[in-house]
Amino acid sequence: MHAPIFDTLRDGGFKKVVLCNDTRTGLRAVIAIHSTLLGPATGGVRFWPYHDEQAAIADAMRLARGMTYKYAIAGINLGGGKAVIIGDPRTDKSEALLRAFGRFVDQQGGEYISGEDVGTTLADMEVIRTETPHIVTLPEWAGGVGDISPATARGAVHATRAAAQRAWGDPSLKGRRVALQGLGVVGEKALKMLLDEGAEVTVTDIDPDKTSRITEQYGVTAVAPDAIYDLDVDIFAPYALGAVINDTTIPRLKAKVVAGAANNILAEPRHGHELQRRGIVYAVDYVANGGGTILDTDRLRESGFNPQRAWANVEKIFDRTLQVFALADKLNIGFQDAADRLAEERLAALIPVRLLR
Ligand code: NAD
Repeated sequence: MHAPIFDTLRDGGFKKVVLCNDTRTGLRAVIAIHSTLLGPATGGVRFWPYHDEQAAIADAMRLARGMTYKYAIAGINLGGGKAVIIGDPRTDKSEALLRAFGRFVDQQGGEYISGEDVGTTLADMEVIRTETPHIVTLPEWAGGVGDISPATARGAVHATRAAAQRAWGDPSLKGRRVALQGLGVVGEKALKMLLDEGAEVTVTDIDPDKTSRITEQYGVTAVAPDAIYDLDVDIFAPYALGAVINDTTIPRLKAKVVAGAANNILAEPRHGHELQRRGIVYAVDYVANGGGTILDTDRLRESGFNPQRAWANVEKIFDRTLQVFALADKLNIGFQDAADRLAEERLAALIPVRLLR
C-alpha cells in the first residue's frame, strides 16, 4: 500500500510532481519540483528502468529534495528539481523520445531546468535542447561548461582535506593512506589529485580493464572490490556507488575519515551517527560532491559564466565542510544533521526576501 500522493507532497514540502506521458514516442517521465524558493528548480534527468511507476516517482522526489539542500548549502540561488525517464537507456532512448521530454520541460516555462544524470549524456542534452532552452548541462561548444567531473573531484578532495583537518589537526594528505573505491570519470581525477597531494592510494573497481589501465598508468596497487573495506588505511574514499556505509561495512573499516564524491554514501542516516560514535569523521556527501554542480550552474547567473568565480566557489567546499563539523559540535548533533540544518537555515532566512518579489 503506497502513501497518498498529496500527503507525501505535503509532508516533504514539495511544490509539484508532473507526470509526463507521450504515447507515440513511448515517453513516461516524472518531473519533480521540490522547491523554487531560491530560484528555478534545477537538476538532471535520470534514464532508468524502474520496476514500477511508484519507484520512479519516489526516486524523482527524493532526488529533487536532495538538490534543494545541495544548492542551499552551496550558496547557489537555484531550487531543487529532478526528472526521471522510465526505460532502459540502451534500448529505449530515441531522438523523438528525448525531444518529447524536452517539450514537457519547456511547458514548465522555466520553473524546471534540466541536465545530465545517470543514463543521459551531454549529447542527449543537445537533443533535448532542440525543444527547450531550459537545459544547464551542455558541451562547451554549445555554451555549457562541458565535463564537470574535474570540479566534482576537486571539491571532494577539498572535503577530504577538511576531514583530515578535523581528524588529525592538519589538512595535508601527504603520507595518508587512502582506499579509493571507483575509478570512473570522477574517481580517476580524484586519484590524480590525491597522488599530487602526496597520499598513498590503493584502488578498486569492478571493471578489470579500467583497474589494470589505472594501476599501470599511476603506479598504484589495486585490490578486489570487496577487499577495499578491510584495508589498513587512514581514509576511505567512496567514488562509486551509494549506500556503501552500512551495517556490514562499518565494523570492517579501519579508516578515521570517510570522504569522497559518491552520492548517498550512508545507507541510512543512523549509519552517520554510528561513524561518529566510532570517532570516524564523515565529510557529508552532498557538500563534498557539489563541485560539479557549482561549476555547471554558474552560467545561469545574470552575469553569465565566470570561471574565476565558479572555481573559487568550488574551493569553498573546504571551509563549508569545516563549518558542518563546527555546527555538529556546537549543537551536539550528527554531521549529516548539521549539514541539513545549515541548508534549512539559509532557506528559512531567505523566505522574507522572496516574499518581497
Ligand atoms: P562513473 O560511472 O564514471 O564511475 C563509477 C565507477 O565505479 C565505474 O568505474 C564503476 O565500474 C565503478 N563501480 C561500480 N560499482 C563498484 C563497486 N561495487 N566497487 C568498485 N567500483 C565500482 O561515475 P562518476 O561520474 O565517476 O561518479 C562517481 C560517483 O560520484 C557516483 O556516485 C556519482 O553519483 C557521484 N557524483 C558524480 C558527479 C559527477 O560530476 N560525475 C557529481 C556528483 C556526484
